[in-house]
Amino acid sequence: MTVVRTERIRSWWGWGWQDAAVGEAERKGLVGRLPPHWVADPMPVPRVDDLDLRPPRVRTPDSLAPICTAHPHVRVAHTYGKAYRDVIRALRGEFARAPDLVAFPETEEQIGRLLDWAGDTGTAVIPYGGGSSVVGGVEYRGDGHDAVLSLDLTRLDRVLEVDRTSRAALIQAGALGPVLESRLAPHGLTLRHFPQSFEFSTLGGWLATRAGGHFAMRHTHIDDFVEALRVISPSGLTQTRRLPSSGAGPSPDRLFLGSEGTLGVITEAWLRLQDRPVHKASRGISFGDFAAGLDAVRAIAQSGLDPSNCRLLDEAEAAINTGRADGRAVLVLGFESADHPVDPALARAVEIAEAHGGTADPKSTQDSVGGWRSAFLRMPYVRDALARSGAIVETFETACTWRTAAELCATVRTGVQAAITEVCGEPGIVTARVTHVYPDGVAPYFTVIARSRRGSEVQMWDQIKAAASDILDRLEASVTHHHAVGRDHRRWYDAQRPHEYCKVLRAAKSSLDPHGILNPGVLFD
Ligand SMILES: Cc1cc2nc3c(=O)[nH]c(=O)nc-3n(C[C@H](O)[C@H](O)[C@H](O)COP(=O)(O)OP(=O)(O)OC[C@H]3O[C@@H](n4cnc5c(N)ncnc54)[C@H](O)[C@@H]3O)c2cc1C
Repeated sequence: MTVVRTERIRSWWGWGWQDAAVGEAERKGLVGRLPPHWVADPMPVPRVDDLDLRPPRVRTPDSLAPICTAHPHVRVAHTYGKAYRDVIRALRGEFARAPDLVAFPETEEQIGRLLDWAGDTGTAVIPYGGGSSVVGGVEYRGDGHDAVLSLDLTRLDRVLEVDRTSRAALIQAGALGPVLESRLAPHGLTLRHFPQSFEFSTLGGWLATRAGGHFAMRHTHIDDFVEALRVISPSGLTQTRRLPSSGAGPSPDRLFLGSEGTLGVITEAWLRLQDRPVHKASRGISFGDFAAGLDAVRAIAQSGLDPSNCRLLDEAEAAINTGRADGRAVLVLGFESADHPVDPALARAVEIAEAHGGTADPKSTQDSVGGWRSAFLRMPYVRDALARSGAIVETFETACTWRTAAELCATVRTGVQAAITEVCGEPGIVTARVTHVYPDGVAPYFTVIARSRRGSEVQMWDQIKAAASDILDRLEASVTHHHAVGRDHRRWYDAQRPHEYCKVLRAAKSSLDPHGILNPGVLFD
């Protein structure tokens, strides 16, 4: 097939657009903020033509050839997700497990034929949306298949129907965030699901991983917007009924939400939409420390006010992301509505925060909120630049009840610092923020920056991450709040998931995917 080049080209080894990557001047500025002895010459980006790629082990039948490619550039771009360990391995030119072929189906019928062919030829199929997985979700690591096909769904990207009365739309699963929103905008509607990876992730990926989006409360996960799903499995089609809610037995949607490509290929979904908000109000509130901020966030979460943004940044995060230099933790609080002014809700939330020791910024924080948002969106590019220059830079996240929240945050910070010191020979930086809040608990999110040793980066990060995940498991927190399980979280997910439930998942898998071709190794064996 012909590889279509759009005007902007995606990076095959790192985050985002090639032309938006951190340039040399910006990189020098960034590494200037690291301890000088951490900084190494940037790892060179290999030329795709120089990579040692195994020749494809299979050919598709002629009828499917027009939608498949073995182009090296496409194969390497579909080998990994976008975690730190993926970026490093790509820069090292490690592509022994590159998919043999990448398919770009445009219809469900083509997906069905590809699955039939894969079942007949013992080919593993990895559903691929935007490829922004940070848990090894799109990377084949098994050895029980004769070949690997990456199934890129981004050509299924249309909004098929809008039901203005019910405020919902039927959307194809391969739509990337901006494509989906641009197609809803003429209707005055929005899904308003904005993960940090929004620009380079798809609806199908969000559904398959139960992604966490824009809203701090209530509609935190994409699940909350799902009316119905359409899924193609090797055994056939599952189409659930479109309903606002239903008490008719276990929800079939729930079987596929979070199934991470193991049970079927999600092709379409009916989703609940929002009117575009016109009333917005936000404020920054600072606290003496993160623990005080946590108390305020809990009180706000239990007040019934439901802020759309309630992001608590610890002292270091506040300094990095908003440029504050006063050593205080910051709560970025925001409300929005398409219907009514939200200033009263904001005023009440600020009152609650002040009653818990917070100091509200005197002016509206549109500037600091805007500053925080652009730093937030630029961060993955910065991560790549620092990773090339000698730093381990990665994040992990969890969810826990309020009862354990403060202890968990403190224990994780201490325990992860100890692990960094052991692995890297010196302490690193561990920052914390809160991304989503609930009346009964919270989703803390941590960033690690540490000194790497060239050639050992992946093993070093894996050891630090294992220490972090062990702590989360010990405190009975979740191995993830929204980053999914993939392959990297398996050990801890296996401990978290009830044993009997695993049997149910296996039974579902053997019924829907009898040859075990769909994303093997993810979620369960
Ligand atoms: C910088 C960065 C920021 C991120 N921020 C967030 C965030 O704010 N919130 C969040 O939740 N996550 C975040 N993530 C993680 C990632 O973006 C999410 O997991 C996202 O939902 C993946 O979507 P995708 O389309 O890229 O899926 P992919 O990475 O392509 O696939 C992810 C998994 O879903 C499966 N899959 C994909 N499409 C389908 C389909 N149509 N049918 C069946 N299975 C499918 C794949 O097989 C794989 O197991 C971030 C990642 C990065 C790199």
